[in-house]
Amino acid sequence: MKILDKVNSSLPKEVISRVELEGSEIIVYTKSKDFFRSHEATIKEIVNNIKKRIEVRPESNLTIDQETSKAKIKEIVPEGAKIKDIYFEPERSLVIIAAEKPGLVIGRGGETFRHIRSETLWVPRIERVPSIKSEIIEGIRKVLHKEVKFRKKFLNEIGNSIFTERKTNRDWIRVIALGGFREVGRSCMLVETPKSKVLIDCGVKLGGTNSGMYPILQTKEFDPNEIDAVIVSHAHLDHCGMVPYLYEYGYKGPLYCTTPTVDLFALLCLDYIDVMQRNGVNPLYTAKSVKEAVKRSIPLEYGEVSDVAPDVRLTLQNAGHIMGSALIHLHIGEGMHNIVWASDMKYARTTLFEPAFTDFQRLETLIIESTYGGAENIMPHRQEAEGQLMEIIGRTMARGGTVVIPTFAVERSQDVMAILVQNDFQYPVFIDGMIWDATGIFTAYPEYMSHIIQKKIFNNQDPFTNKIFKRIASQSEREKSWEEKPVVILSTSGMLVGGPVMEHLKALAEDEKNTLIFIGYQAEGTMGKRIQKGWKEIPTRLENGKTITIKLNMEVQTVEGLSGHSDRNQLLSFINRLSSRPNRVLVCHGDAQKTVDLARSIYKLFKIETSAPKNLEAIRLR
Ligand SMILES: [Zn+2]
Repeated sequence: MKILDKVNSSLPKEVISRVELEGSEIIVYTKSKDFFRSHEATIKEIVNNIKKRIEVRPESNLTIDQETSKAKIKEIVPEGAKIKDIYFEPERSLVIIAAEKPGLVIGRGGETFRHIRSETLWVPRIERVPSIKSEIIEGIRKVLHKEVKFRKKFLNEIGNSIFTERKTNRDWIRVIALGGFREVGRSCMLVETPKSKVLIDCGVKLGGTNSGMYPILQTKEFDPNEIDAVIVSHAHLDHCGMVPYLYEYGYKGPLYCTTPTVDLFALLCLDYIDVMQRNGVNPLYTAKSVKEAVKRSIPLEYGEVSDVAPDVRLTLQNAGHIMGSALIHLHIGEGMHNIVWASDMKYARTTLFEPAFTDFQRLETLIIESTYGGAENIMPHRQEAEGQLMEIIGRTMARGGTVVIPTFAVERSQDVMAILVQNDFQYPVFIDGMIWDATGIFTAYPEYMSHIIQKKIFNNQDPFTNKIFKRIASQSEREKSWEEKPVVILSTSGMLVGGPVMEHLKALAEDEKNTLIFIGYQAEGTMGKRIQKGWKEIPTRLENGKTITIKLNMEVQTVEGLSGHSDRNQLLSFINRLSSRPNRVLVCHGDAQKTVDLARSIYKLFKIETSAPKNLEAIRLR
């Protein structure tokens, strides 16, 4: 292969034993201890020249034995790092160090890291141990470790497929809308380039009817065997809920997203299987295909440039929407075309995240969401919204009531938790449903959050480990949360379509001292939307199948402005602030009228060709 030959020929022959690919990364194995210890300058020059990432690893016969290495690592790393585990992957000459304070394992300017490397002759990989125990993270890390042989081979094949010359009869670039256009839910888009096919997002439509629940994959253009890469923007089910189905359906390729997205994706898809089963629906896929997806995941950090197909280079950037959410930038051909997928995204600072990234050097086609893109969708300022939330909660606490906040596990829950801590809230806050597990994942990745939150976490003021938060893990604990007053309860599901929140309503709805607060989007047809419209009697199905009616006497409030989506002004100012002005915008992810409305406004304001395609439309970009 050209690229490997190039690297090989630029290195001194006597030190190199082999050069391999792991995805788009080039791995150089050396038989020289000295070269392994001091290769940085040589490699830097080659990297500058070929613009690809290179990692140097020692042949396994050079590495110091595992017990001695462990002892050395413990000696070198300061105790404050709180190392929890050290384990090895001899197949790749890697030592994984799991610590509570990874910064101390790396050291100032990477000093400690280099020291470990040169003393043990292993390549260190450092993982953060989340401050809230997370079974899903432990499970995923275990799978990846157990499957190291599979992964090495898989990554090698992917690398070969990316860098092998490929001939096709296409000379165009086009995108095909497969779901989530002129609607919210089942987001999915196929990108066809002269040499590759890439799928962006593959979600479900929650609360959708049978025919409209899933992306339209039964088209001629979509053949899972021809897809080079699946890229997922973030771990909401309407963007990733069908990814395991692709693996069930014959796709065997990589899944690109950020590391937190892999964890949250697995958590949510496993729960989705569970929910389907409980509702008597035959799940479309099993836990096995979630695992298949995890085994083939290739996590990328924000800003990391990676070849993902023969003529496609991918970069993920912060989307400001949820933990690990990304704007997807595709560079096609050598400067031929650039696409940015901005669904979903928030272009404003929130308690947890920085605003979405805008500094794209080149961008021709922008695809943007429009959840709140309608002319009427101007949200109150965030500070105002937070003030309103705290005022309603404070009022309920004062009269000895309970506040119930229905929310998605990974939507505004952690946001509300941070707001409560910021306001020095002192009453107990019960956390029910999957929110606790999702929060555990948050504590593993502070570097994906805003600078302010990061600073707090590094100064031992992690908002999520605050003592006001109490986990509900069983029915009896749930019942206890009803006796204690005043308290706040955060519970799934966010739109009152099942989940433990229904239990809380059953117990608390009749008492007018209590308050129900909506903080997120309520879709048409959901119980949440009906209550917002003024319904006072809520039919609910019991475990035994009987339906009862809950009388809703509690106060009902909606706080707007805490959304993880941009409102209309934020969407427009995102486009305005882009470093490179696109010459085409496609609007997606919104109710039909909103997508059209936003498209029209973008055209008027920026004079950019803008449209709101329908599902199954193909748009030729070049
Ligand atoms: Zn989302």
